[in-house]
Amino acid sequence: MSQTTQTKPSGQSGPGGRGGPGGRGGPGGRGGPGGRGGPGGIIKKLLPDLKSEVIDVGIIQKMTSNGQSTRFKAIVATGNENGYLGVGQGKSKQMRIAIEKATNQALLNVSPIKLGCGSWECRCDQKHSVPFKIRGKGGSVTIEIIPAPRGLGLVAGGKIKRLLELAGLKDAWTTAKGSTPTMNSTSKAILDCLKQTFSQG
Ligand SMILES: [Zn+2]
Repeated sequence: MSQTTQTKPSGQSGPGGRGGPGGRGGPGGRGGPGGRGGPGGIIKKLLPDLKSEVIDVGIIQKMTSNGQSTRFKAIVATGNENGYLGVGQGKSKQMRIAIEKATNQALLNVSPIKLGCGSWECRCDQKHSVPFKIRGKGGSVTIEIIPAPRGLGLVAGGKIKRLLELAGLKDAWTTAKGSTPTMNSTSKAILDCLKQTFSQG
């Protein structure tokens, strides 16, 4: 075995070391024209287990000088059921495209969640709940997520439960105040909660 495992710091001499191109995740932004599936592809490669789900759809009707215009909006959540969740919104004259836009945005918004066991009744080291009690706001909605012991399941209403499942939570109590049927606010409140899993501990 004469393999040399030494890694020589070869890059150091020349100019232009700095990590080269391809750093910043490329041109992600606006989905671009005809950007079908575009930037989302990168995230899908990094997190192959992502599942996307349509959480809410709606119709936006507006009176214009030409009469009534109808547009669709969609909210899509994407997560790997193990510590990553993103939520996106899309609007279009076609439902299919609204969902596609929302899915792409959700993929771009995917962010990590620190899972843990903050339940004093449980005290295991597994990542089945949140590490401590968290509270988040979105519009008029306030949501609280409280650590629960293993096997309890998610005590939450339908769509909130689904979002938490996609994020990877298995056991938690939740309380929700405000207009929770407004999924726009509710999903923001949940993301706000989950961000705070990094705030202490
Ligand atoms: Zn536990």
